[in-house]
Amino acid sequence: MRRIQTIVVGSGISGLTATLLLALNGHETMLIEKAPRIGGSISRFRRKGVPFDVGFHFTGGLEPGGIFRNLLDLLGLFDDIEPIFLPEERTTCFVVEDVNQAYYLPTGVARTVENLKDYFPGDAYAIEQYFHRMQEVCRKTPSLQIENASFAHPQLPEDFVSLQDVLCSLTENQTLRGLLCGYAMCYGVRPSEISFASHSRMCLNFHESLAYIRDGGDALVRAFSERFDRLGVDVRTNTWIERLEGFEDDRAGRLVLNTGEEVTAENCLFTIHPRNILDILPARRLRKAFINRVMDFEPSAGFFNVFATVGPETDSGPELPSITSLFPSSDVDALLDPAYQGLPGLVAIRSVEPPLPDGSRPVHLLELAFPEATAAWNDTRTGKRPPEYMKYREARTSAILDHVRRNFPAYADSLHVVDSASMLTFRDYLNSPDGSAYGIKQKMGQMNLVGRLPVRNLWAAGQSAILPGLIGAMMSAFIVGRAMIGKEAYENFLGGRGLARRAGS
Ligand SMILES: Cc1cc2nc3c(=O)[nH]c(=O)nc-3n(C[C@H](O)[C@H](O)[C@H](O)COP(=O)(O)OP(=O)(O)OC[C@H]3O[C@@H](n4cnc5c(N)ncnc54)[C@H](O)[C@@H]3O)c2cc1C
Repeated sequence: MRRIQTIVVGSGISGLTATLLLALNGHETMLIEKAPRIGGSISRFRRKGVPFDVGFHFTGGLEPGGIFRNLLDLLGLFDDIEPIFLPEERTTCFVVEDVNQAYYLPTGVARTVENLKDYFPGDAYAIEQYFHRMQEVCRKTPSLQIENASFAHPQLPEDFVSLQDVLCSLTENQTLRGLLCGYAMCYGVRPSEISFASHSRMCLNFHESLAYIRDGGDALVRAFSERFDRLGVDVRTNTWIERLEGFEDDRAGRLVLNTGEEVTAENCLFTIHPRNILDILPARRLRKAFINRVMDFEPSAGFFNVFATVGPETDSGPELPSITSLFPSSDVDALLDPAYQGLPGLVAIRSVEPPLPDGSRPVHLLELAFPEATAAWNDTRTGKRPPEYMKYREARTSAILDHVRRNFPAYADSLHVVDSASMLTFRDYLNSPDGSAYGIKQKMGQMNLVGRLPVRNLWAAGQSAILPGLIGAMMSAFIVGRAMIGKEAYENFLGGRGLARRAGS
């Protein structure tokens, strides 16, 4: 039987991060991935030669001193990627259709505050307060400090008040509220269900700077793979744990893989969906309360995604920011409610990488979606769906195109669909239970699954552990990785890599 120090399950950004952190700290590590290739949500795919993204388009935190940049720097990867920063002025556009108005937002918190005050002069105090409170929350959050990388259960006053309540206490202006919480699309939870603190931890970064990475998540996957080769990490694709056996002292003695191989691991870190973890843990070793807690987690919102090309741009075309959101209603709480019956919210993300040979550019149209819309086909798999599903997909694609063309007539003739994906496509491709974009809903008052599990050599990290998005997923891997290697080794690791110098740069 193979003996290994640590097995990491799942090779999305959390699994890649945890694996490299452990390997750099001398742990003999095996990474197992159910899919045929590593990368999970961050990998790109190609259709008709056009590169498209699955679950990584843009990020905050890549500016000097930014959290994403520091995380990559610590792993020795930052120099392998090329950030493409969006212009600081007119960085993104939110079209609020119920008031028929386009709002252009910059990045940089001070600039954003001034810009919003220009749009809403009567709400200057509310705008200042909102951003000040976001900054205070992030400053006081240990899970966002790489130096400490520790997890503390929610404890700030802002952990116990909903985003919606804060917005309503600050302003009566529904449009301003919608703009302030517009990035809720980036974690997929209703403002009335998420705490103001979680929203702040997720979104402050987006207000500070926004960037793409050239070649998208593939650039990250390449950089990780290259380090794994150098460090001798055992990477297995098409591999998963069938069952756990040989329990002693509350530890799993043997991990039986689908390949038939049996492995003994000092530790095993799951970076997969909590529901998928539950499927692997033997129910007889778990308390009912634990099982209920995991079963009660709800899915975040997801997307119906149209993969298209747009252009070539003509001189008379609009200079739209590459990230443009269409909000049919400024009531974001309604847009993120699965029961909402109106036109869904949508974000259009146009590539800023060099154009394709014909001068066009890839564009992703991501429309908010919920599992209810495709529940009728839950027991079907990609490639084997019935004609009714195909009709649903076609109708939804054409409704999305209509919505986009109505708002941007200049693109009417130059938008060409290449492919589309429903939440079921995401579910099957990413081996997740429901195809939600961000794992579980990060609800106020909820205790997520993070750190040591009831079987003592098993651990949990990943996008559902602390916060979704690449930064949240990577931080979860750092926090659990630190617990696995020990505080002292972690501090030596940071010291050896000059974190203090870089963080202040
Ligand atoms: C459409 C969409 C757009 C998004 N856009 C952005 C964005 O622009 N910026 C951003 O920061 N975030 C974005 N996100 C969110 C972001 O992709 C995720 O938060 C993050 O990538 C999740 O990483 P992860 O490692 O936790 O999970 P995943 O990437 O889901 O990785 C989990 C991996 O585990 C594997 N797996 C599952 N079960 C098993 C098993 N039993 N054994 C072995 N392997 C298993 C899966 O195949 C998968 O590879 C987006 C998400 C979606 C869906």
